[in-house]
Amino acid sequence: MTAPTTRPMNDDAPPLLAVKGLVKHFPVGQTFFGGGALVRAVDGIDFAVMPGETLGIVGESGCGKSTAARLVMHLMQPTGGELLFQGKTVGSPELPLTEFRRQVQMVFQDSYASLNPRLTAEASIAFGPEVHGLGHRASIDRAHDLLGRVGLDPSRFAGRYPHELSGGQRQRVNIARALAFEPKLLILDEAVSALDKSVEAQVLNLLLDLKDDFDLTYIFISHDLDVVRFMADRVLVMYLGRVAELGPADAVLEHPTHPYTQALLASVPSMDPKARATEAPLAGDPPNPINPPSGCRFHPRCRLAEDVCSRTEPALARSAGGHLVACHAADPGSGHSRAASGTKSEAKRAAKVMS
Ligand code: SF4
Repeated sequence: MTAPTTRPMNDDAPPLLAVKGLVKHFPVGQTFFGGGALVRAVDGIDFAVMPGETLGIVGESGCGKSTAARLVMHLMQPTGGELLFQGKTVGSPELPLTEFRRQVQMVFQDSYASLNPRLTAEASIAFGPEVHGLGHRASIDRAHDLLGRVGLDPSRFAGRYPHELSGGQRQRVNIARALAFEPKLLILDEAVSALDKSVEAQVLNLLLDLKDDFDLTYIFISHDLDVVRFMADRVLVMYLGRVAELGPADAVLEHPTHPYTQALLASVPSMDPKARATEAPLAGDPPNPINPPSGCRFHPRCRLAEDVCSRTEPALARSAGGHLVACHAADPGSGHSRAASGTKSEAKRAAKVMS
């Protein structure tokens, strides 16, 4: 899959979305008197999404990427943290949740469950605008226009119910339904993962066209690194509720610094017999998020782990490659034998910088 050549992005603009210290802990085994444990699904993450870019979020299942997306959408209440959208605090009088939710839409993996089986494609797409005050006729006209924009001839597809559509057609309806709100940010959570490869390529190309046509910004969540490489301008790698690596897609995916990102990339199957791995690139399963390992959460599985890794949690700091990495081996002065000696101050100062 060859990545598109042009990706308009305004680097000088303030972030469209800024996520600060986002936390989601799910209580488990709580009694009436309290106690019990916490699943640390998202455990303090910071990132920004710039206008016009596609930020890819990757990681193994259970790493917290989909929970992070739902927290951004306010589909669940965060335990802590703050969201700023165009500089305004989400949920404040300046930016009430209803207005934020109109500007940020989400497309899920399960195209069938996302649609009301009793509504035709036309009615599903028109529903949102009508609820938000657009007249019935105008909402239907918008639905027909959007069906055409996602490659479904309204004269053939407007009256069809979800069970009369293929998986790819249903996902096109879901995308049209999201666009009907005229959002600025679209969160695509494994949105093409359930599609056949040929249909997946068509929908990915459609998403790229729509991004240009509607001046959109994407958060693109996927476990498929090839798809993320094709779509993303920057990539955020999550491990056990924390950010492991964040930076331009070329830097993170072509020259990964974090041992976890390196292992993820090494686990992508290769068609080249000479390039096939003979050893498992990632040993074992991710640890239990109820009781994450001390220090670096990746240390029980990391081939570079040293004493410092189990003692101290690495900060997300700017690496020699210029992007952000949470790894002692990339942090000068951390004490890790692989890190170049130097002072920690520069790296620590960068810890809160959102690449
Ligand atoms: Fe591996 Fe240590 Fe880096 Fe964690 S901090 S990824 S254990 S080298």
